[in-house]
Amino acid sequence: MSDGQLRTPTKRTCERCGRIERWDRSEETWRVVREEGTPRVGNPYCIHEWDINGAFAPFGDDTDAAEA
Ligand SMILES: [Zn+2]
Repeated sequence: MSDGQLRTPTKRTCERCGRIERWDRSEETWRVVREEGTPRVGNPYCIHEWDINGAFAPFGDDTDAAEA
């Protein structure tokens, strides 16, 4: 049994302004990621368009990306 196997996305990046957030499980909220001490907040007026890649696997979907 491995810990950290999440079905929900844990990190997301805005394709428009570069904002990066990660999911805080204990707080149950998105938090801005810091890189080299600088919060990657992006543009506060941006209508964020999140790039979640393939990490998000919705429930009830019978397609399996693990198949080669
Ligand atoms: Zn944005």
